Amino acid sequence: MSASAVIDQDRPVEAAGSGCHGGRTTMLEAAKAAGKSETMDRLLATYPRGPHDQPQSMCPAFGALRVGLRMRRTATILSGSACCVYGLTFTSHFYGAKRTVGYVPFNSETLVTGQLYEDIRNAVHEIAKPADYDAVVVINLCVPTASGVPLDRLPRQIDGVRIIGIDVPGFGVPTHAEAKDVLAGAMLRYARLEAQNGPVQRPRSMTERTRTISLIGELFPVDPVGVGALLAPMGLGVAPQLPAREWRDLYAALDCTVAAAVHPFYTASVREFQAAGRPVVGSGPVGLDGTADWLDAIGKAAGVAPSLIDAAKAQSLPAIRAALDGNRIEARVTVSGYEGSELLVARLLSEAGAEVPYVGTACPRTDWSEADRQWLTARGTHVQYRASLEQDLAAMQEVRPDLAIGTTPLVQKAKELGIPAIYFTNMVSARPLFGAAGVGALTRIVATQSAGKDRFARMVSFFDGVGSGESTGYGWQGIPESHPGAKERFRKVRESRARAEANIPVGN
Ligand code: SF4
Repeated sequence: MSASAVIDQDRPVEAAGSGCHGGRTTMLEAAKAAGKSETMDRLLATYPRGPHDQPQSMCPAFGALRVGLRMRRTATILSGSACCVYGLTFTSHFYGAKRTVGYVPFNSETLVTGQLYEDIRNAVHEIAKPADYDAVVVINLCVPTASGVPLDRLPRQIDGVRIIGIDVPGFGVPTHAEAKDVLAGAMLRYARLEAQNGPVQRPRSMTERTRTISLIGELFPVDPVGVGALLAPMGLGVAPQLPAREWRDLYAALDCTVAAAVHPFYTASVREFQAAGRPVVGSGPVGLDGTADWLDAIGKAAGVAPSLIDAAKAQSLPAIRAALDGNRIEARVTVSGYEGSELLVARLLSEAGAEVPYVGTACPRTDWSEADRQWLTARGTHVQYRASLEQDLAAMQEVRPDLAIGTTPLVQKAKELGIPAIYFTNMVSARPLFGAAGVGALTRIVATQSAGKDRFARMVSFFDGVGSGESTGYGWQGIPESHPGAKERFRKVRESRARAEANIPVGN
């Protein structure tokens, strides 16, 4: 069936003019009216919203795009407004993607007639060559989702190349973290059904150990190696990590003994492991308590003898204790982020001696971070799930930490206030977190940065008087003058240009 038969041609295309700022309700209603009710209900159930109903981090689709771009022999095609695609590709390459991002452009006509779907299908047929790719991922951004572009009608495979079509609208997926799960979960589901239906390709690097643990979450490259060493005394190894680097790794990941939801927001992925009959364990091996508890939980879920669990703990805990003793933090630290590992970071800091009054995460509360929440709460830390920027800022201003770890706008505000601050993504996620290596790496950076309080105070006094907000900079005293006449002139010019392009006579 062609998409033109699926899309209601009489429906107004207001969605085409909307976007991040178009209003969630409008977009949601448009998507439902366009036949995406089931998709939207599923997204809203899997990724429940929080106190704020729009993402406050970058465009959520970046998460899914990143997961696809990191995979070998995988092509990724975006379907969305050019401005969204520009921003997403810019960010991808900023973060080092070395792969081309495919794009199928549209206009109001191709959107409303269903031609966009035909264009996407043609693009998929053109690119799906088994010599080049194992999979082609197509991502519907906000406008095509709201307009009901039916990616589920794409062929399931073309000459053996799997076709994965997903909707990742900002009005249905709250964070880019959860958007990673949308694609990772869709791929796992595809791979699970393949494995259930017959023999599948052997992973490129099979581990020597037959009993493995799948780590769910994007981890610093050293961490899976360190976790492998923690697990070795129990006769367990580490399966290929998720999100996967190659399609065939998905089979090995699914074939694990236990899945470890180290990043707790991978709800759809966890569902696939459970459907494959694998037990799932939350939290992660951070600090002394965290590592001991995690090894206990993994060993128990894997049916390992208690003596071997004790052996694993005896091997790793003394080194972690020594690292904690040798790297004490004497500082008050707040932690805010959208990566999903915020609670683990807060636990480690707390064990190293830091006072951690607040941890905020943009991710939702799930079973897989419950042990961390309880551990932190018992030590007086306020844990805020689905934290808004306003909540993170209010917490920082209230407790006046020696160091604020957070997102870009939070760090900016902290610096204005003379509070030392570092970016979660660049500074914390780019270091090991687990075992003794995690203790050393995290405590060093916190100690170095929190010692800069005097320097920040000097900076604030140096810039005192340069103004703020609308009067920032020398020479500006008041609020910039508004020129409504100029705005109106530019609006008319834009309108007449758009009419000329669309060939619509003036007056219509
Ligand atoms: S796709 Fe992303 S950037 Fe584009 S409108 Fe949606 S949330 Fe905004």
